[in-house]
Amino acid sequence: MQLYKEQTLRIHNSLTGKKDVFQPINEGHVGMYVCGPTVYSNVHLGNCRTFMSFDMIFRYFKHLGYKVRYVRNITDAGHLENDADEGEDKIAKKAKLEQIEPMEVVQRYTVDFHNTLQLFNLLPPSIEPTATGHIIEQIEIIKDILEKGYAYEANGSVYFDVIKFNKDHDYGKLSGRKLEDMITNTRELTAQDEKRNPQDFALWKKAEPQHIMRWPSPWGDGFPGWHLECTAMSTKYLGETFDIHGGGMDLKFPHHECEIAQAEASTGKSPVNYWMHANMLTLNGRKMSKSTDNNIYPAEIFSGDNNILSKPYTPAVVRFFMMQAHYTSILDLSDEALQASEKGYNRLMEALDSIDKLKTGTKLDFDVATWKQKCYDAMNDDFNTPILIAQLFEAVKHINLIKEDKESISNEDKAELKKTLQAFIYDVLGIENQSMAKDDSNTLNGVMELLIDIRNEARAKKDFATSDKIRDQLVALGIQIKDGKDGTTFSVN
Ligand SMILES: [Zn+2]
Repeated sequence: MQLYKEQTLRIHNSLTGKKDVFQPINEGHVGMYVCGPTVYSNVHLGNCRTFMSFDMIFRYFKHLGYKVRYVRNITDAGHLENDADEGEDKIAKKAKLEQIEPMEVVQRYTVDFHNTLQLFNLLPPSIEPTATGHIIEQIEIIKDILEKGYAYEANGSVYFDVIKFNKDHDYGKLSGRKLEDMITNTRELTAQDEKRNPQDFALWKKAEPQHIMRWPSPWGDGFPGWHLECTAMSTKYLGETFDIHGGGMDLKFPHHECEIAQAEASTGKSPVNYWMHANMLTLNGRKMSKSTDNNIYPAEIFSGDNNILSKPYTPAVVRFFMMQAHYTSILDLSDEALQASEKGYNRLMEALDSIDKLKTGTKLDFDVATWKQKCYDAMNDDFNTPILIAQLFEAVKHINLIKEDKESISNEDKAELKKTLQAFIYDVLGIENQSMAKDDSNTLNGVMELLIDIRNEARAKKDFATSDKIRDQLVALGIQIKDGKDGTTFSVN
């Protein structure tokens, strides 16, 4: 029997504002769509947290025995600089800045995105569609919405008519906004505006002659609006109504509200049963921002090459740190918090590595079956990973007492304990056991010490050809060396 038949899962649904019991549309199957990145820059740590949260959710559904189709898109066109359908396309702007093709920008940052998520041990989604690969589908939806009377054409662009839609639907039901309030809080339209109302949003934008990313359409050359791609790709791969739609909290309005409006206008159906939103990551108590320097990239954490943290941290420790907070809570990253997570991670892995050596007996002090259900109860309560991790440490406490001969465990329970711990740590939380690589790292440390010595001798003799060769070839192997006041250290990417 599949596990999901025994476990009742509750999900905080942004649409209803409460924890709803999860009932899939098709028994044993889950359809989940998550808004992916706009690939115009290196992936942010905050975005990594969002995708990691949905990776954990994906993993838990799989663990319960569901067949999951997880669709996470790549936005490679149509995302303008601001939400009011104005400004340049983010990718085209970067391409102009670097004097390369927009698709080179897309390729570069898609590769960075995949590499970073792989370091954090995220599973690839089932389908990863791109906006530019679904222009025809997007044009079809626009035609449909126009035909139903919820959109209008103006000067080669097509806009969604929010006021018309709101007459027989509820625009704002996801974000809890009222259209009347939105109208009083926005600026008046000027004579140059093509929109009938400021709340209307673009389904299709006419491409000006200098705009490089353009496609032919019944309304002339242009490009699709950002909100539309998610409606097109989720409908194509998951159907007109599917189980779960996720994304960062910042996408709730206007992006997800517009997705609901587009889908309801074209199909007449509510597109999603459970809307899920992951919260943001702050750094030292403040919002992360490139412009204020309160920002750190994943690679800088792993290499230790930054001004914020005292030392490098491994991807597994960072992932463990992220999993220690509930996905709907704001999480603050700091050196102290990462140090505490590293200690916790090491304790957990040591306990896991020592289970096999535990002596077994007959007197039972640890009720593994009850403990195991508590782990499931935590995850069934809206994927409560901090409570799950507290339960994992409850097991660590008992493992340590058994090691000290203060408690006892049966052979059968020992096997069950190991299996359950591994399932939750590796399969559900996606945390890798990097302590297994310890033996290799001793050899590496020895070799690196030798190379650093040779390099320092070369530098002392002003033989920079040799010292640079050592440094450059190590970089090519993914090893960074850093000269500090306490000598030379290295880190492996
Ligand atoms: Zn989206």
